This record gives sequence, structure tokens and C-alpha cells, in this order.
Amino acid sequence: MTLLIKNVKYLVTCDDDNRVLKGVNVYVEDGVIKSIGTDVQTADDVIDGSHMVMYPGLINTHHHLYQTFSRNLPEVQNMELFPWLKTLYEIWKNLNPDSVYYSSLTGMGELLKTGCTCCLDHHYVFPTGTGMDLLDSQFAAVDALGMRFHATRGSASILGRDDIGQIAEGMAADFFMINMDRLALTGAQFDVSSMLGTVGFKGNVDYTVVNGKVVVREGRLTGVDEDKITEKANQCVTRYLGRS
Ligand SMILES: [Zn+2]
Repeated sequence: MTLLIKNVKYLVTCDDDNRVLKGVNVYVEDGVIKSIGTDVQTADDVIDGSHMVMYPGLINTHHHLYQTFSRNLPEVQNMELFPWLKTLYEIWKNLNPDSVYYSSLTGMGELLKTGCTCCLDHHYVFPTGTGMDLLDSQFAAVDALGMRFHATRGSASILGRDDIGQIAEGMAADFFMINMDRLALTGAQFDVSSMLGTVGFKGNVDYTVVNGKVVVREGRLTGVDEDKITEKANQCVTRYLGRS
């Protein structure tokens, strides 16, 4: 499977020289960036990059995906950490493979749609009677979405990868693209390498590619039916919390 992003308007490489390339083609083969330039002109899948700014995929190094389902409960909003934990453990003790699966789909789906390609999850809540089945649920969600994922049991782990984090030949093809032709980015094009920090960006990116696979296309997840999983996740969270 080959992928070509053709005529990328601005490519923020994040390489050692922080180069920003203009008007280049990015060619991907078997999940790896094979060439950046103008040599390759076609592939199995060709995406028009002529309005796009491309960045290396963002990396989330500390998530608790299961907490997506308890992220907006009024009774804990103003609590300090320990009362907050104590109250929430009463809820988290009901975690099961179903709620872990749908909260992982929700959390990782949001990440992919905002340019994050790699997630390190710290899952430490294993209610009595659960175990590997919770991690199996997470990996099922990973497979459905196409995210690059690392799970840890507990909180200490190092990602330890040198093939992600920049866009260069030989690196893993993990990147995202935003169409610059929008009101919110008008006037932001003069320093695209700092744009996300200085101007900011809200909403969904246009494309996310993980390991050479297009996982967000035109702002929508490709691996799952977003409307269907939203509906099912809402049913699941209602069951899990026991409230509607
Ligand atoms: Zn944490």
C-alpha cells in the first residue's frame, strides 16, 4: 500500500534544523516515509496537499482513557485531589470491558481527530474480577481506530521510540494536515511552525495518518462509523454511571 500527499503547501518537519518545506510531495510505502520531494508523482492513494499544512503527529504521553466517561460529573468538579479520587473510585469500581472499550474509542477517536497519532495510556484501575480483559478491550479499540498505542499497567513507562516525532525520509509515516483556507487561520501562514501555539487551532484536523494509514479523512474517522460509536458510547456511559 502506497500513499502520496501531493504538493504539500507547508511541511513543518520538526527536524534538527526545524525546516519548513513548501510544495513538496510526501511519498509513503509500508508505513514509512520513503521520499520527500517531487520525484514520485503517483501512488495507490493520492491526497491533494496544496491547501494543507502538515505536522508530525502529536504524541500524548499521559492519558487515562477510561476517565473520559467520568469527565464531567458535577459532584466532583470542585473537589481537591483526594476527595475527588475517593468519590470517583466508587464509580470506577464498576469499570468493565464494555465501558473500557467505549471510553477508549471515544478518547482515542478525539485524539486522532485533533492530530494526535500516538497515545500512552496509564490504566491502573482493575476492579475485582477484571484483568487482562480490560486491556484486551483497549487494544480492540486501538485496532478499530488505527492509533499508535502503548499501554502501561501503572504509571511508569518510557516511550523510547526514535522513528516518530519528525517528518523525514526513513521515519514512520505519522502526521496530520490542516487546510489553511479557513477563517480561523487567515494571517497565520507567516510562521506555520509556531502556528499551533501562537494562533491555536480548534476543531478537527482534515487528515491524520498513522503508520502510513489514513485514519482521519476530511475530518472523519475512517475505521469506525462515528455516528454509530457515539450512539453506542452514550448508551454505554449511561449504563456504566447508572444515570441518564
Ligand atoms: Zn495520570
